Amino acid sequence: MSERIDRTGGELRLVGSRCPGCDHPTIPLRLVCPACGLRPMDRTRFGPSGTVERHTDLEVGFAGIEAPYSIALVRLDEGPVVLSRTEGAVEPGTRVTLDADEGGDVYWFAPVPVEAGTGRGHHVG
Ligand SMILES: [Zn+2]
Repeated sequence: MSERIDRTGGELRLVGSRCPGCDHPTIPLRLVCPACGLRPMDRTRFGPSGTVERHTDLEVGFAGIEAPYSIALVRLDEGPVVLSRTEGAVEPGTRVTLDADEGGDVYWFAPVPVEAGTGRGHHVG
């Protein structure tokens, strides 16, 4: 099983850690807190929802990935930031959710569909 993805209970989550001292979250799992130096950090799970903070669009596909796609900094709702591929082009502020292949070794974020007429999904943060 992948060290990066946790499917316990059928829910897709990213494996990370949270500092028991200062509450700093990290992805992936770390032993020493990068914020305060405390060790060990507690293993925890994050996701699957987050918001795109920054991204770059790539026009060239590779390894079975169809262009265009984006590499984005995604801030998960629990606080940690992860650099990941996203499905399709996304803009900062786009709400995304975690997805992964069956093996769980490759993961990406896909935009959460915005329900028509609700006016939600924009101006987050
Ligand atoms: Zn800490």
